[in-house]
Amino acid sequence: MNHLSGFEDTIVAIATPPGVGAIGVIRLSGSDALAIAGKIFKGRELTLQPSHTVHFGHIIDPGGGEFIDEVVVTIFKGPKSYTGEDVVEISGHGSPYILRKILEAAVATGARLARAGEYTQRAFLNGKLDLAQAEAVADLIAADSKAQQQAALQQLRGGFSGELAQLRDQLINFAALIELELDFSDEDVEFADRAQFKSLIANLKSQISNLLNSFQLGNVIKNGVAVAIIGKPNVGKSTLLNALLNEERAIVSDIAGTTRDTIEETLNIKGVLFRLIDTAGIREHTLDQIESIGIKRSKQNAEKAALILHLSDITDPDNTPIDWLAPFADKTITVWNKTDHKGNQKSAIRNKESEIAISAKNNTGIEALKDLMYEKAIGDTIKTENTIVTNARHYEALAKMMESLQAIETGMEQGLTGDLLSIDIRRALHYLGAITGQVEVDRDILGTIFGKFCIGK
Ligand code: GDP
Repeated sequence: MNHLSGFEDTIVAIATPPGVGAIGVIRLSGSDALAIAGKIFKGRELTLQPSHTVHFGHIIDPGGGEFIDEVVVTIFKGPKSYTGEDVVEISGHGSPYILRKILEAAVATGARLARAGEYTQRAFLNGKLDLAQAEAVADLIAADSKAQQQAALQQLRGGFSGELAQLRDQLINFAALIELELDFSDEDVEFADRAQFKSLIANLKSQISNLLNSFQLGNVIKNGVAVAIIGKPNVGKSTLLNALLNEERAIVSDIAGTTRDTIEETLNIKGVLFRLIDTAGIREHTLDQIESIGIKRSKQNAEKAALILHLSDITDPDNTPIDWLAPFADKTITVWNKTDHKGNQKSAIRNKESEIAISAKNNTGIEALKDLMYEKAIGDTIKTENTIVTNARHYEALAKMMESLQAIETGMEQGLTGDLLSIDIRRALHYLGAITGQVEVDRDILGTIFGKFCIGK
């Protein structure tokens, strides 16, 4: 048994998703996990078994003694477990009925049902994960593209936390020197070399600013790139939509923040999620015909989108560009459609970075268009060695930290005294620590972070 955690109760939850599966896992965590599991398990005496061992046996109903399931039990003794406490995982047959019976048996013998995210919260409070890593667990569980998985994994492995820890050490060093000066304030000494400090602050600012800039990309990874397909009636918008979605077609998903009537379909290009916005509008031809409504809706979509596919008919002799799209040129790819048509085709592409010719109907150029979409939206910014901020809470803390660094810099220029400087340094350290949980994090914030998990995580 371990008493590291300071938690009184042993928690239990079904760790596998709802529904029928080949196996289902019930997880117990807490100082009585082995004793509780031992009371409902018929097989070896669990409390006597070494850590990280697996045991075959039966689960019996503690009330009537009847047989519930044939199971395999895995023991992880704290602190070498996910939560840092004693953990027992019972793998039974994946029927919701059986899993519920095992859960009830564990509760009847003294376990309490776990709250959402409580396992990861315990792991955090026991020092197994820092806060940024705990949040990465939630992201990892929710990841449905390779890029999301990689960003979360990098954060979970501590890449992000490691980078912050280095910044923190540098600042703490300096704070210590400045505060030492305060003790000798009568003697007018300077332990902290101001020139060195200046370059440290400049260095920190540039690192924080890299992290802040990565948020835009992080957001893209987490939420996908919003794409609008815009073009006059009959240029082939629905045909292109179908060609793009062809094999990659994803389920029409309920992405948070989008309403039911603006249907979005998603497309996975090289592991990045692209969200095709307002596909309902593209499919409803009548809306395009009623020009004023169609244009208003298209304009709104163009504004919302991170990437615009401006579709035109290459054979249309009267092909005037859509003038209201001009301000969005930076995020627009001009797509010339119907290259298969024998009609009067326009001259060759002028700008390979933002123009492409395709035949949506014959599926020619669709892969090249996808590559171009990826290049335009992501470019080569995704490099595994770069830390990417994907979390809005981290972004805010970094932004606040940046403000404090700015204040320190201005303060030094104005010859601010050490005691005032040290207030700003402490403030900067506070925000840095808030990301990894090295300072007291507000109970409410913890509740919000862990509440987002599902039960059993
Ligand atoms: P939308 O009004 O912009 O959504 O256009 P549609 O996708 O409904 O296409 C209008 C017409 O153009 C349909 O008859 C399509 O079959 C045709 N079309 C679309 N793409 C191509 C293409 O690449 N080549 C040819 N020849 N016809 C196309």
